[in-house]
Amino acid sequence: NKIIIAIDGFSSCGKSTMAKDLAKEIGYIYIDSGAMYRAVTLYCIEHGLFLADGSIDEDKLKQQMSNIHISFRLDTESGRPRTFLNGTDVENQIRTLEVSSHVSPVAALGFVREALVRQQQELGKEKGIVMDGRDIGTAVFPDAELKIFVTASAEIRAQRRYDELKAKGQEASFEDILHNVEERDRIDQTREVSPLRKADDAILLDNSNMTIAEQKEWLMNQYLQ
Ligand code: C5P
Repeated sequence: NKIIIAIDGFSSCGKSTMAKDLAKEIGYIYIDSGAMYRAVTLYCIEHGLFLADGSIDEDKLKQQMSNIHISFRLDTESGRPRTFLNGTDVENQIRTLEVSSHVSPVAALGFVREALVRQQQELGKEKGIVMDGRDIGTAVFPDAELKIFVTASAEIRAQRRYDELKAKGQEASFEDILHNVEERDRIDQTREVSPLRKADDAILLDNSNMTIAEQKEWLMNQYLQ
């Protein structure tokens, strides 16, 4: 019987790598809920919805929410999902530090969460999915059969992010990335709607000192239990 697997946790702690690997191994569909918040954020940047003082033009965004269509398509070569915003492949654009540093305030808006959570629940109707994010085990699928909550030290998370961006040829300073990781944690944990927190029935994993292979094995064991 197929189930729903919810993987939540702090920014840049390797949730998506773990989730993607597990989904591939057990033949489930992987859904990156953070990519959806990132796509809405990119839309806001492209359409001038960030005001000069850095705040969001909430009224305009509310009016335009129904114009924002997000979808995922599998890249035939790599077998990995790519994110599309209104028909355009935005997978690379949504991973930049610019989007990372604007996303948390967008994700704190109740009407944005409402719209995206509804879409995520729709995607999960089929079962047999692994979804990662911040509120999957608490708000999107409170009845998920397996819930994991991942954390690691902020320095280690920033270092992983730094290495990842560098590998893609994107330059960013370690200090800027560390600041971004800590700032997103702060906003995600203190927002009013579905703040980032571990669900009572989620299993805690601190992967600060684990290799990717070890994390993969750990997660597979949780699934098999
Ligand atoms: O997971 P990722 O780092 O790509 O998520 C980007 C941002 O989207 C997070 O910092 C958080 O503010 C928001 N997010 C959220 N709820 C989710 C997934 C992501 O609020 N389920």
